[in-house]
Amino acid sequence: MSKSPEKHDTKFTTRSIPGVEAKEPTVTPLSGASEQVMLKRPRPLTGGPRKRVIPEGLWTKCPKCNEMIYDKELEAKQNVCFTCGHHFALTAWERVHSLVNADDFEQMDENMSSVDVLEFPGYMSKIGANQQKTGLKDAVITGLGSLNHHQIALGVMDFSFNGGSMGSVVGEKLTRLIEKGTELSLPVIICSTSGGARMYEGMFSLMQMAKTCGALAYHGKQGLPFISVLTDPTMAGVMASFASVGDLIVAEPAARIGFAGPRVIKDTTKADLPEGFQTSEFLCDHGLIDAIIPRKDLKSSLSHYLDFLMSGVKSKSKTV
Ligand SMILES: [Zn+2]
Repeated sequence: MSKSPEKHDTKFTTRSIPGVEAKEPTVTPLSGASEQVMLKRPRPLTGGPRKRVIPEGLWTKCPKCNEMIYDKELEAKQNVCFTCGHHFALTAWERVHSLVNADDFEQMDENMSSVDVLEFPGYMSKIGANQQKTGLKDAVITGLGSLNHHQIALGVMDFSFNGGSMGSVVGEKLTRLIEKGTELSLPVIICSTSGGARMYEGMFSLMQMAKTCGALAYHGKQGLPFISVLTDPTMAGVMASFASVGDLIVAEPAARIGFAGPRVIKDTTKADLPEGFQTSEFLCDHGLIDAIIPRKDLKSSLSHYLDFLMSGVKSKSKTV
C-alpha cells in the first residue's frame, strides 16, 4: 500500500504504467479522503521470476538439459531424461530388476565382505559407511536369473558403493559367477560401472584383473559367450580387465569409458587429445565397442544377441 503521488484535487487519480505512454483513470477517490488516496501498489513489470519452491526428494534436475523431472516419471523411464535422453545412474538392484525376472533371480555370495588385509587406516569405516548407504555388502551383485527365455549368469556393479571400485570381493564374486556360468554352460553378462581398482587393497585389487580374465578365458573355451555392458563411467582397472574382453561389448549412450583420466594421458603423451575420446560414441566409431544401446532397448537387444550366440548350446540344470 502506498500514498498516491498524484494530485488530490482531481476527480480521478491516474497512474502511469511503465512502458505505456497513455494515462488512464483508475479509481474514484473515497469521499472525505481527499488528502489520501489508497491505491494498490502496481506489480513491477521488471525483475526476476518468482522463486519456485520445490519440495526436496520429489524432483530431479537433469544435468544435461536442466529440465526438472518428477521423480516418479524418471523412475518409470528407467532413469532416462525424457527431454534429452540423458542416462542417470541406476543402482545395482534397479539394473538387475530391469534385466531379469525378479521372482527367480538367485543371488550368489551375497554376504561376502571385505577384510582389511593391509590395515589401511579408515578402510573398514569407509566400507561400513558404504554398506549402510547402499544396503550392499560390496560394489557388485552377482547371481543366476532369466532374461526373457534365457538363463544367464549376471553381474551388476554399483558406482554408489565406493565408486564401484574393484577389490578382492568384487573380483572374487565375479570370478565365482563366471565359473558357475562355465559349469552350467550359461552365458555371462556383466554390467560395469567403476572408477577402477580399489587402492585400499593395493596389489590384492590388481590381482583381480588377471583372475577375472582367467575365468573368462576358461568360459570362452567352452564356446560360451560373455557380453560386457559398459555404463557411465567405466574406467581404469575394470576397463583394463574383464570389461573390455567381451565377445560383445555394448555401452549406454554418452557413457565415459577409458583407462586413465584425460589430464594424465595428456601430461604423459604431450599430445592434444581428440574431443570426446573417452565416450561410448567415440569408442564405437573407432571399433572398441560393438554397439550403443539406449537403456530402454537393452533387455530386448541382449535377448536378441543371446538367441544368436546360444543357438546350439545346451545349458545344464541351474543350481547355485
Ligand atoms: Zn535432460
